[in-house]
Amino acid sequence: MAVDTIRDGVVVSMAYVLTVDGEELSRATADEPLEYLHGAENIVPGLEAALAGKKVGDKLSVTVPPEDAYGEYDEDDMDEFDLDEIPDAKNLEPGMVVEVEDEEGYVFVGTVQEITNDAVVVDFNPPLAGKTLNFEVEVVGLREANEEELEHGHPHSLDDFYDEDDDEE
Ligand code: ZN
Repeated sequence: MAVDTIRDGVVVSMAYVLTVDGEELSRATADEPLEYLHGAENIVPGLEAALAGKKVGDKLSVTVPPEDAYGEYDEDDMDEFDLDEIPDAKNLEPGMVVEVEDEEGYVFVGTVQEITNDAVVVDFNPPLAGKTLNFEVEVVGLREANEEELEHGHPHSLDDFYDEDDDEE
């Protein structure tokens, strides 16, 4: 069954270029497109909304403000940790991505913001928080998602990309 337009439950293949502050951050070509499942929040809400109803061959420029992407930058979303309590503290550098586990075992990914004499400040904002994202997109293919994909909420052609972990599902 052919799919004409983008709607929930459709796997979309797209070529794109993502630019932030004039710098290209990522791209996919028409030969090796990015696939996502529409309606499953695989991509930022602002881009997903702009793609609804589009057809194969459609090209669009989409500017996504922070509130429709990774959110506003939150100055308070930072924590300080004592260097004494960190095993490899001397290897830390600003800009480094670190994982911090809380008492309940949840793991949070953050970026080292600053290292003082006795503490490290970790920023838990997503790296693109507060940024406006500029996408140049071309829709290159559409197909109906299969049952398993709908259940998992992502396409299965790119399991690595979506960090497949079927054992837990
Ligand atoms: Zn899956």
